[in-house]
Amino acid sequence: KVRVRFAPSPTGPLHIGGVRTALFNYLFAKKHGGDFILRIEDTDQNRYVEGAEQYIIDALNWCGIPFDEGVGKEGGFGPYRQSERKTLYKKYADHLIANGKAYYAFDTSESLDAHRKEHEEKGKTFIYNWHNRLKLDNSLSLMPEEVKERLANGDDYVIRFLTPPDEKLQLQDLIRGTIQIDTNVLDDKVLFKSDGMPTYHLANIVDDHLMEITHVIRGEEWLPSLALHKQLYDAFGWTAPEFAHLPLIMKPVGKGKLSKRDGEKMGFPVFPLSWNDSVGYKESGYFPEAVVNFLALLGWNPGTEQELFSLDELVKTFSLDRVNKSGARFDPEKTKWYNQHYLQETANAELAASFLPMVKEHTTDEDKINLEYVTKVVSLIKERAVFVSDFWDLSDYFFVAPTEYNAKAAKKQWKEDTAVIMNELISVIDSIEDFSSENSETIVKEWIAEKELSFGKVMPPLRLFLVGDMKGPHIFDIMAMVGKEESIARIKTALE
Ligand code: GLU
Repeated sequence: KVRVRFAPSPTGPLHIGGVRTALFNYLFAKKHGGDFILRIEDTDQNRYVEGAEQYIIDALNWCGIPFDEGVGKEGGFGPYRQSERKTLYKKYADHLIANGKAYYAFDTSESLDAHRKEHEEKGKTFIYNWHNRLKLDNSLSLMPEEVKERLANGDDYVIRFLTPPDEKLQLQDLIRGTIQIDTNVLDDKVLFKSDGMPTYHLANIVDDHLMEITHVIRGEEWLPSLALHKQLYDAFGWTAPEFAHLPLIMKPVGKGKLSKRDGEKMGFPVFPLSWNDSVGYKESGYFPEAVVNFLALLGWNPGTEQELFSLDELVKTFSLDRVNKSGARFDPEKTKWYNQHYLQETANAELAASFLPMVKEHTTDEDKINLEYVTKVVSLIKERAVFVSDFWDLSDYFFVAPTEYNAKAAKKQWKEDTAVIMNELISVIDSIEDFSSENSETIVKEWIAEKELSFGKVMPPLRLFLVGDMKGPHIFDIMAMVGKEESIARIKTALE
């Protein structure tokens, strides 16, 4: 059975790249009838941020990609928080030591810094491996008794992986194919520390194994760790899961990875939900469906021109073969395009319910602040909206009479005979009994024809007087909505 995991570290809010990783894991799991697991990788206590874990859970839920198993959702492989699994890792580190795959090292950070500096001065990078190992303060240069003594002494230590020299590793990645790595360029990475905590590498491998993870789908930034991870599986004698490293998400313009700063600079969210001062997609009025749809196409393509996908369709269509190797450029405008689409798909009554509180800020008119009226307004103006927050500017005249008129339009529309014509129009409107849009339109048009007036002399001023601007849907729809009395009152006001 397919089992995949999303394994964030609770070091802050989940950014959009993290959500994309979670989404691809979710899609892959659901496509294959598998499980999607949330594991919290909180072994690095220094980077722990209060509230980040709950944020991650809330964000996944808001996106509509809940996990099957994980923190707070027991599934037989728990606990799912690494800090609660703390006591479990030591024996695996010990096992590697006993098998000669890892060793103790007692270097102080000062001495490591000194080695690093020394190398730098010669224009070299310091690699903690067989080249330098015997010069360093590790158990490979000490007698076994000495090691025991230092451990008994309580000296600070770390356990490092023993990278074999001169090996050519062949690594397999489902997206990138075969990757060759020469072990001589690899560091002996730290697996365990004397504070009793494993590092990311050890905990990650042990947990993926114990949780029976079949596929590791994660961001490209973890590709450099693949060599170590594969060697660790081999060292334990475990079958490694399959790996898929997702392409980076790139800045909208220029080079490099999308950062929080790009969002701040260019004014788009980088987090799904708000976090401290940063406003998230949710609070900016995005629909989760829009966010999920655009994220799915960041680094994946369906192989067709199709751009709009529901989550169900994504599950059906998704495959790792269609994930690109090259970075995916983030396009904030495209996100808006998706939102506009999903806004059109959303029921008018639902949109009206979100819009109603905004309307109440502007008017106390009981005839207007009811769901039925607001729903009708929404149906007339939503086409042009990207967000529900756009609704007020697009529809204010349905609720309150204009107090200003677009000056340019006024200048253009106001002609010698305008006052006479519009005064006459008032009596025509006043005589209409059935004030429906269609009927008013017929009557007003008949009057125009009868009087041999041009449309241009009537319709544009009528719109300007009712709306205050040359915008809005069909003018007779607007008239029917605001009603006879109010329509007449607005024309009169404009004529004053
Ligand atoms: N804890 C790592 C992270 O924060 C997980 C990487 C992985 O998926 O292996 O992204």
